Amino acid sequence: MTYLVDSHCHLASLELNGKGASTVDEVIKRAHFAHVTHMLCVACELADYEPMAKLTQNYSEVFLALGMHPLNLKEKVDYQEEDFVKIFSQDKRLIALGETGLDYFYDANNAKVQQESFIRQIELAKVLHKPLIIHAREAHHDTVNILKEHQAYDVGGIMHCYCDGIEMARQCLDMGFYISFSGIATFKGSDNVREVINYVPNDRLLVETDSPYLAPVPVRGIENEPAFVAYTLDYIANYKNMSVQELATITSQNFENLFKLKLADYPICELSFEDMKQDYMNYKLEKARQLSL
Ligand SMILES: [Zn+2]
Ligand SMILES: [Zn+2]
Repeated sequence: MTYLVDSHCHLASLELNGKGASTVDEVIKRAHFAHVTHMLCVACELADYEPMAKLTQNYSEVFLALGMHPLNLKEKVDYQEEDFVKIFSQDKRLIALGETGLDYFYDANNAKVQQESFIRQIELAKVLHKPLIIHAREAHHDTVNILKEHQAYDVGGIMHCYCDGIEMARQCLDMGFYISFSGIATFKGSDNVREVINYVPNDRLLVETDSPYLAPVPVRGIENEPAFVAYTLDYIANYKNMSVQELATITSQNFENLFKLKLADYPICELSFEDMKQDYMNYKLEKARQLSL
């Protein structure tokens, strides 16, 4: 069986009540229909953990991550590490610490607070022995320096939704990190990202949706969901002159290597596709259907 992993999504942020996704059950069904077997669902602060855990409790194919997102910080760092430790010790589905990092694009005014939190999250990841999920935007130098100074390479992790240059990628790869590409890779103006895709060795490459944001071409502009990682994978495979099957296998193995797990140990739920909303399916998944995985 070929696995395909969405290595970063926010299921609890999907609009699960209306015209779109409707229920998490349907979202996961559509993911499986598009051959996306597993996903890593991310909570961006302590308060987001409970709703996420509850929403995904029936799905062993959904792995979880929890961390403090730089854009969720206020004037000071006001969380307690022990609250994270407690949750991680109780929930074995949590496999990563994050997302954490630095975002000067949306908010450079609180750079100091972001840096303090980032450092504390790295130290926490080391205590928990969990890989990090790093969110970095317009903060190349500080991100790399902090990762180095605080020996983040001890735990490693993922540079998620990567859209920085080759130089930063090189430094992160040197520290053992994986580079994950989102739908941005499929956008017209993303030549800089595609340059990095060429640069990253296959054994360090991952794909993600970051749903509900950043839906890839050809579904750009609508709410993103894990099924759509198939489009991004398709695009990158074409770009790299590889078969979709080959790249799916490689990225899934990378996910297994990083998190030291076997996807086969996390079976996907038995779902009947018959009750899916066909119009919606046709609209959103026509292309994914053609991926002969
Ligand atoms: Zn992010
Ligand atoms: Zn995210």
